Order: sequence, then C-alpha cells, then structure tokens
Amino acid sequence: MAFPLPRSLSPSKVTAFTDCALAFRFSAIDRLPDPPSVAAMRGTLVHAALEHLHVLDPDERTLPAALACLDDAAAALRDDPEYVALGLADDEAAAFHAEAAELVRNYFRLEDPTTVRAIGLELEVEAEVDGIHLRGIIDRLELDAEGELVVTDYKTGAPPSTQHERKRLSGVHIYSLLCEHVLGRRPRTVQLLYLRAPLALTTEPTDRSTRGTRRTLGAVWQAVERACEREDFRPRPSHLCNYCAFQAYCPAFGGDPGEARRLAEDLAAVPAT
Ligand code: SF4
Repeated sequence: MAFPLPRSLSPSKVTAFTDCALAFRFSAIDRLPDPPSVAAMRGTLVHAALEHLHVLDPDERTLPAALACLDDAAAALRDDPEYVALGLADDEAAAFHAEAAELVRNYFRLEDPTTVRAIGLELEVEAEVDGIHLRGIIDRLELDAEGELVVTDYKTGAPPSTQHERKRLSGVHIYSLLCEHVLGRRPRTVQLLYLRAPLALTTEPTDRSTRGTRRTLGAVWQAVERACEREDFRPRPSHLCNYCAFQAYCPAFGGDPGEARRLAEDLAAVPAT
C-alpha cells in the first residue's frame, strides 16, 4: 500500500525533503508531532514581537518599543501548552528571554523599521501552481520606495554557510512564486533576515529564477510521489541529525520507521476534539 501524498508543499517542506527524505516522511506524511523545542519557541516569540512592532506607527518603531512588544508576546506565550511543556526553570526562562531580546536588538542592526511600509504580516498564502498545491506564511510583505513588493522572511537560527546560501534562497523564490499567483505581481525583492548573525540575504526574482523554481518544485513533487508510491524514503545522515526529533525511528540510529507508521495510524484513529 502506497503512502498518502502530502496535501501541499511549502518552502520549509521542500527544504526538509531535500535535507532528508525520511525526516520529511515522518513530519509531512506520518504527521508525527514535533516535540516542543526551545529554539522553535524562541523563533515563535521573536516573530510575534516583530509582527507587533510593525503594527505600530512608523515613528513609534523604536528599540524600546520592540522590547516592549517582546515582553507582551512573552507574557502571552507563558500559558501556551508548548511553552509550558518545555518546563524551563526560572534561570532557563530568563536566558530564553535574554536570547530572544538579543535577536530583536540584532534586527535593528539589519534595517530601520521606521522606513518599512508593511502591507501584510504573517500572511498565509496558497495557490495551485503546475498542479502542485503550494502554501506558505509570509512573515512580512511590504512596498518599497517605488511601490514594488518586497517579501521578508525572518530567520532565528544560524545563518547558512556560503555553499548553502543558494539553497536557502531557493526557498524564498517559492514565496515569490506564491505572491505572483496570489497577488498577480512578482515581488521585486525577496530577503532573508538572519537575526542571529545578523545577516541579510537578498535576491531579485527574474523570469529565469521563476522558471528554475517551477522546475525544482516539479522535480521535488515527482520525487515525493515516487517515494510515496514505493514507500521508499531514505535517511540522509548529516549534522542536521543533531536537531532531528525523529532519531528514535531512524535506521541510521538503530530505529524502526515502521514504528513511526504505526504511531501515525494510531494518531489518525484518535477522534478530533
Ligand atoms: S536522524 Fe538524520 S537521517 Fe535520521 S531521519 Fe533524522 S535527519 Fe534523517
């Protein structure tokens, strides 16, 4: 029996599949829940703070205001079950907040938020492109000085090495494609803001890059279809295994992927509440 196809592709799923097909299967097909992690939670917190910052009038977007937005977002997060599940002791919670504040400070080293003309924040977009259901969340959509669209994606993890920069930027070209299909206009600029470094990676989508993105998406989707049909998702051990939540089911670590499948079937049988 073939595995079911995932319902959609997103920039993060494309990256996940090319990083390790087996980890993609556990997440996108078996739909095993990712256990909460400090890094993911810190990312959620910083994204929320920057979203609140850009709702303010431009001249109010100062660093103290951004840190106040962070405090508000942290207060709202305190009762979140995933945050509670981290079980942070007081000193760990203080370190968590201090690291998030550092990322917010770094944001101000990358751009002046008073100049940003955001027209959409945490925008959910989806479209059917070449028979593939694409979806993604655009952290920030804005207009530049000439009224052209700019897509911004905040990253709170480590920046990529030079050899992986192209791969990370290929993900943001998918946002460009989504914009083009949903809004009828290709963005002039797509940028990744790495808040940890801090570092900005910027690219300008073109006809050529758009064709390349569509080709890549088609190839990834075909590979996913083939892997589902053959039930053949192979592990690809790398440094990313250190952060993988599914090691217990991975043969590279002595695990049995069949157990993940059984767990997925058990989870699917639980009635939704
Ligand atoms: S542990 Fe490594 S090889 Fe195994 S599924 Fe995770 S990322 Fe892939």
